[in-house]
Formats: sequence, C-alpha cells, structure tokens
Amino acid sequence: MFDKLRDAFSNAAKSLGEKELKEKDIEDILFELEISLLESDVASEVIDEIKSDLKEKLIGSKIGKHQIEKFVKDSLISNISALFDAAEKIDLFEKINEKKKQEQPFLILFVGINGTGKTTSLAKIAYMLKQAKYSIAVAAADTFRAGAIEQLREHTNRLNLKLVAQNYNSDPAAVARDAVLYAKSHKTDCVLIDTAGRMQTSKNLMEQIEKINKVVNPDMTIFVGDSLAGNDTVNQAREFFARVKFNASILTKSDADAKGGAALSIVKVTSTPVLYVGTGQEYSDLKPFDKETFLETVFGSLGDVDIKKIDEPEPTPESSSNDPFEGISDNDIATYSDLFDVPPPENDNEANKLANKIREWIKRGRLESSE
Ligand code: GDP
Repeated sequence: MFDKLRDAFSNAAKSLGEKELKEKDIEDILFELEISLLESDVASEVIDEIKSDLKEKLIGSKIGKHQIEKFVKDSLISNISALFDAAEKIDLFEKINEKKKQEQPFLILFVGINGTGKTTSLAKIAYMLKQAKYSIAVAAADTFRAGAIEQLREHTNRLNLKLVAQNYNSDPAAVARDAVLYAKSHKTDCVLIDTAGRMQTSKNLMEQIEKINKVVNPDMTIFVGDSLAGNDTVNQAREFFARVKFNASILTKSDADAKGGAALSIVKVTSTPVLYVGTGQEYSDLKPFDKETFLETVFGSLGDVDIKKIDEPEPTPESSSNDPFEGISDNDIATYSDLFDVPPPENDNEANKLANKIREWIKRGRLESSE
C-alpha cells in the first residue's frame, strides 16, 4: 500500500543526502519530488506547500551532509502531520450522543459518485453503530439508479435495520424527510441517508443533494471516495465540497493498491478529516483513519519524530491568553524571522502557523543557527 508515495518521499530524502546543499541541488530535488508526488495523486496545492516548507527549511541550513536525509524525512513527516491536524477533529459517537441527549435523531447524509463504495460504506457505518447499540433507520434517497433501492434493502435485511423507501423517481428529499419523521416517532438514534451519485448529470445531482440538505438539514455529511481512483477522487471531492459542504470523508478500497495521495489531497483541499477507511468488502472492514498509521506506511518508522508533540505544543499556564507565541522567547522569534526573512504575520492564522514553525525549529535544536 502507498508504495509510490513512499518512494517519492524517500527518494527526495536520499538524493539530498548524497549531495552538497547548493540551491540548484535543492531545486532539482524539489522538482523530482514534485513529479513523484504528482504520480502519487497528490494535489498541486499539497505539493506546493510541501515544497515551499522544505525549501524554506533547507535554504541556508548548516546541516551536516549525513544528517540531511533524516532532516528531510523529519521535515516531510512533520509537514504532512500538520496538514492532517489542520482538519477539524470529529468524534462521531460524541456527536450522536449529543443529539441523543436532546432526544433527536442524528442524521448522516452520504454523498459520492456511484461505484466508489458509498452504499457499502453506509452499511459498514450502520453495522458499526448497531454494534455500539444505537438504533438506526436507513433512507433510500437514491431513487434514480436502477437497483439502488434493492441493493440497500439487501443490506438492511442482513443487518436487520429499518429501511425507509419509496418508488423509483420519487423525490429523494421526500424519502429523507419520511425517514426523519419515522426516526422521530420511533425514537431512532441515527438516520443514514443514501443519495444518488451519477456524474454525467451532476448539476441535477447536486441540486437534489442541496434540496435534501435544505429539507432535512443533516447533522453530518460524509463524502465517500474511492482511494484507487486517485486524482479523480480528489476532483470529485472538490466538486462536491463546492456545492455541499461535507464534514468528513470515507476512503474506500484502501486494502487494494492505493497510491496514498488521495487522503492527503482531500484533507488539504477541503480542510475536513478522513474519518474512516474501507479495508475490504465485509461489514467490519472499516477502520478509523489514523494519521500515525498513514505516516508509518509512507515513511516507514517515524524514528524519534514525536508528531504528537509537534502538533500539540505543551499547554502553558497562560495558554488561555490566546497568544500564539506563548512560551517562545522574543529572542527566538527575532532569530527565526531574521534567518528565514519572515515578515511579521498579518493575521491570527499566519501568527499561529509561524509560531508552530518556530516551535518545531526550536524542537529540532535551532538547527539553522547552529554554526
Ligand atoms: P456505490 O455504487 O458507490 O454504492 O458502490 P458499492 O457500495 O456498490 O460498492 C462498489 C463495489 O466496491 C462493491 O463490489 C463493493 O463490495 C466494493 N467495495 C466497497 N468498499 C470496499 C473496500 O473498502 N474494499 C474493497 N476491496 N472493496 C470495496
């Protein structure tokens, strides 16, 4: 799994390790890295960020030749780790419990293109929630594709769940609303809503989904993407996200030979997390997406890079003061800014980013200034 992505990163680290660090070498390696990442379905936004972060760290650095490979690997790991962390953290069970306390059903809308594994993933989520003792109703709101209702019925029969369905060509929003009414009157904990997913009439499709959104106002919308389809999946995510702001993704078929770039790209492009990955065709083949496992798959061992520490700076007693530079000395801020020619941040977001970079630089032993 993820062989291509792993090769892309490790080649970049190795080639730098073999050369003196001249600007031309850095440019060459970054170019090679870019090509390999493109081949691994990593979106250009992600590549740009990875490249500029690495370049910033390398230029002017005084790292010994034999340390460079590790330095590059650590930089890439921490950069990608931060990218995943920039997405909101979602605890599905906690969210369901919040609604349960209000005696309201939790509504999950599933969106995505046909064939990606949307129906299977919905059934896997239903299975997982059923195992956790939640009651579930499923809404067959794909009233377009021949066989879609039967396919869903097969799952709900096997899992012994309530299916709310109407005839083909009926209004999907009405089906979803029926399911919500059913759930309210039966005190059902969750409603899982399947939707149509045909690309060729995407305008219609999006309008349908927007209407469902308006009518039932789901608590969570999950985009289902096929991790084997790489860049296509990223483009689908982009298109869906532009119309229906989904909250999280499920990437299916990661048991097969996925290149790995789709997960990275979708998180970066939408700032929403990958919540689960599909790992097979059985109901139990759904695993929470785990950043560390992803990084380990791509980079091998994480060595001594403590990604948790980099991502979550230790809270300081005054951390409630909202100062992003809390705990960093003025001297370090000035030295870092001079070294890398960083202009003062213009907004909170920039300040947070800069503060995290400085913390990381300090953690690495202020390498660039250690002449
Ligand atoms: P839909 O058209 O998007 O609803 O897609 P389906 O749920 O019908 O899935 C399409 C095919 O992909 C089916 O044969 C599923 O068994 C298969 N599939 C779905 N998820 C996974 C997965 O995580 N791993 C594997 N290997 N196959 C999957």
